[in-house]
Amino acid sequence: MPSSVPRHWRENIKRYRLLGTKCASCGTIHYPRRTVCPSCKARELEEYQFKGSGKIYSYTIIRSPPEGYEFCKPYAAALIELEEGEIVTAQLTDCNFDDLEIGMPVESVIRRMFAYGESGIIVYGYKFRPILPRM
Ligand SMILES: [Zn+2]
Repeated sequence: MPSSVPRHWRENIKRYRLLGTKCASCGTIHYPRRTVCPSCKARELEEYQFKGSGKIYSYTIIRSPPEGYEFCKPYAAALIELEEGEIVTAQLTDCNFDDLEIGMPVESVIRRMFAYGESGIIVYGYKFRPILPRM
């Protein structure tokens, strides 16, 4: 990528991907990213790319979304337990609410997150969807 790519774009790339940090000293994985390891206080942390798969730890159906999320109401908000053991909050997408259940395997995908009012600016980020059974 050219070096002239604006900073906000690079920041967006980080938001697209499920990035955390990993402690070089004790190996603990953190999400969100840390600057100091909460386990051993080491400061040598490296970027860690989560595999993006996990399972539903708990979820709730939001029927009155906050401002900016109206276009996607109602939606399912979930706590996802990642394969690595970290728990992240995310929206669920591409799913029937009736099919959702605790422990269901899910994977991360990039989706439209919200729009800034009428400016037309759309922000993307990760959501999770059920892993479809292979045919
Ligand atoms: Zn550590």
